[in-house]
Amino acid sequence: MSPIELNKRQVEILDIVKGNGPITGEQIAERLSLTRSTLRPDLAILTMAGFLDARPRVGYFYSGKKTSQAISDNIAQMLVKDFQSIPVVVEEGMSVYDAICQMFLEDVGSLFVVDKKSVLSGVLSRKDFLRTSIGNQDLTKMPVHMIMTRMPNVTYCLKEDTLIEVANKLMSRQIDSLPVVKETKDGLEIVGRITKTNITRAFLSLADDHDL
Ligand code: ADP
Repeated sequence: MSPIELNKRQVEILDIVKGNGPITGEQIAERLSLTRSTLRPDLAILTMAGFLDARPRVGYFYSGKKTSQAISDNIAQMLVKDFQSIPVVVEEGMSVYDAICQMFLEDVGSLFVVDKKSVLSGVLSRKDFLRTSIGNQDLTKMPVHMIMTRMPNVTYCLKEDTLIEVANKLMSRQIDSLPVVKETKDGLEIVGRITKTNITRAFLSLADDHDL
């Protein structure tokens, strides 16, 4: 589905109405140094698309709400790259003890693990650490590669993927986060992190954009 692409003049009209509405077509035309008839098609499009409301003898005002079509277009266009966070990465040889400290220090719910070539090799979550901690092992001596979920079982995504694809993966695999990766000749390079928190933030930005 293609989004509603507003042209420059339509955007200018929206700004004028947002700041000055209710305002007549005549007054909008005056501000843009155009005639009322030149503006007529743009005003019709903005009204039909639900950006503006028109009241007879009152004028145009910003409806504050976009059409459901505009909202669904907006959701479909939300991409990982616009909402991702900075990944927290540890090496395979790091001890479980140090990795737990790292998780607290960085205030994250999952760590991504890389091998000597800095290529994605695993994921560590809170539950992985809890499971290990209730055993009788010496956490300072155990490397994280012993307890991580390892490749090829790691679910990941790319910067250009949509948030809908990510949300589907998070729900179907029952996990909280995905590494965002770039494919290189050596393997997958970690470039970001996307979590349920990012999806919640995206959800709120959508509500904000549409004055919900
Ligand atoms: P928590 O342990 O805080 O509930 P998750 O639900 O994300 O966090 O993790 C549950 C399990 O899934 C853990 O064993 C973890 O290693 C694994 N896991 C987490 N993220 C991924 C991922 N992106 N791909 C594959 N496995 C993952």
